[in-house]
Amino acid sequence: MFAFSPRIAALPIVRREDQFPVRRVYCVGRNYVAHIREMKEGDERDPPFFFQKPADAVVAGGADVPYPPQTEDFQFEAELVVAIGGEAVDIPVERALDVVFGYAVGVDLTRRDRQRESFKTGLPWEVGKAFDCSAPCGAIHPVANVGHRLSGEISLSVNGVERQRGDLGQMIWNVPEIISNLSKSYRLQAGDLIMTGTPAGVGPIVPGDRLVVSVEGLAPLAFSIAGKEF
Ligand code: MN
Repeated sequence: MFAFSPRIAALPIVRREDQFPVRRVYCVGRNYVAHIREMKEGDERDPPFFFQKPADAVVAGGADVPYPPQTEDFQFEAELVVAIGGEAVDIPVERALDVVFGYAVGVDLTRRDRQRESFKTGLPWEVGKAFDCSAPCGAIHPVANVGHRLSGEISLSVNGVERQRGDLGQMIWNVPEIISNLSKSYRLQAGDLIMTGTPAGVGPIVPGDRLVVSVEGLAPLAFSIAGKEF
């Protein structure tokens, strides 16, 4: 027998004792027109698409995030996170919200220089997106408490200066459309998180920076960037 047990990432649930165990982390790319324009990559008429981060990339509860290796351009992307609470296979848009357990505030941290190399070479995005501690996420608010978050302000500040501001209503694919589309390719199950894309304003961060991310109706997520881990 191996004398170890893998660390299962889990997120606190607002006003509950139990935690939400994370099974998978899906992310939506290119889901706000204003962010597509600032990236100057691809055609803004191209549809959104999906990629994944490892479940243990989730950093819960505002803990510090180390500055990752292999980048000189470490960037934030403020995102609404959808927590899935039931199974969905090829679910129609009209029923897609039934499998949402709750919502949280998250950040899709990105090694932008590595991601831009992937655009050029056509090689996979993992090195740019799917690295250790790349998915800080706040506590999950159950739908029972906060309803569905389909519109409302999303914003991010660094050291008290606002850097991103948008509205969830600006998503190209809204939450039910994301779930329905994703469930055509994957069997969604309880414990899955979906990071739903970022509005305009993404930019670099360095050790010592303090980030505060807010989505209207949810508790903000605040965390700091620590020094290089290795
Ligand atoms: Mn993103």
